[in-house]
Amino acid sequence: MTQVAVVGAGTMGNGIAHVFAQHGHAVALIDVDRAQLDKALKTIRGNMDRQVKKQTLTEAQRDAALARIAPAVDLEAARGATLVVEAASEQPALKFEIFRALDGLVGADTILASNTSSISITEIAARTGRADRVIGMHFMNPVPVMTLVEVIRGLATSDATTAAVMDLARALGKTPVEARDYPGFVANRVLMPMINEAIFCVMEGVAEPEAVDTVMKLGMNHPLGPLALADLIGLDVCLAILEVLHRGFGDDKYRPCPLLRKMVAAGRMGRKSGRGFYDYNK
Ligand code: NAD
Repeated sequence: MTQVAVVGAGTMGNGIAHVFAQHGHAVALIDVDRAQLDKALKTIRGNMDRQVKKQTLTEAQRDAALARIAPAVDLEAARGATLVVEAASEQPALKFEIFRALDGLVGADTILASNTSSISITEIAARTGRADRVIGMHFMNPVPVMTLVEVIRGLATSDATTAAVMDLARALGKTPVEARDYPGFVANRVLMPMINEAIFCVMEGVAEPEAVDTVMKLGMNHPLGPLALADLIGLDVCLAILEVLHRGFGDDKYRPCPLLRKMVAAGRMGRKSGRGFYDYNK
């Protein structure tokens, strides 16, 4: 058993806390927003209840897992952790500050992991005095369901840190895949240009959104079309990741489609705003 701290109790943080607690780890779940913590605990309970119904978890296992999660509003709660997984909002300055603070708080052997989708692990690590023990642990949404963990090595991440995190991910029932620290890692570097190209198809009048998604679902066996997936991820998030790729590689092949910019500017963010490539208010 490891003492784990999860920083950020939003969409990803609650799922990460769920999975660690289910696999026997004590979890300090930390968020600056008390309401987010309450919501996260409710979500975790609801998701575990679903597992009980599906008989993948017993009631006793659920209760024991829930009892292992200790919510906290202060980063101080990470002090005794041997692993910290940061899943706070995707803002570089915020993450840099959290890692700087964690570095002064936790023990010398503690591994600091970030769930960032697009911020450089090397840059985050440089804010600490332990760059060899800083790593990316990129879980997918929804965390309890998706088996992939992209494990990202910063420039200075050690072999020992990488091996420890790969083993831990396997012990959580996940399949870790190692990647180097370049913009978008593997997942978003491959996914986002596909989504962007699908948006260009719509902008250029090649096909309607439903048609583009149908081609990819039936023709390529994707469970979800790229535009429906973009709506699910959030169009603002897609735009931000494309900007990271564009800036990071300095290559215009990653330029965000003007229609994507226009939709974000209009407040059409996808599911969360009720409208994106599809209308969710109907
Ligand atoms: P979210 O907005 O749902 O949650 C972020 C949480 O961080 C909020 O509850 C916020 O209150 C909290 N927070 C902000 N500042 C904090 C601080 N100083 N200390 C503690 N908590 C703080 O975001 P999310 O979608 O869960 O994303 C979190 C991270 O996971 C991001 O880095 C994102 O790129 C990454 N990620 C997201 C997805 C996804 O599909 N949503 C997938 C993979 C990775």
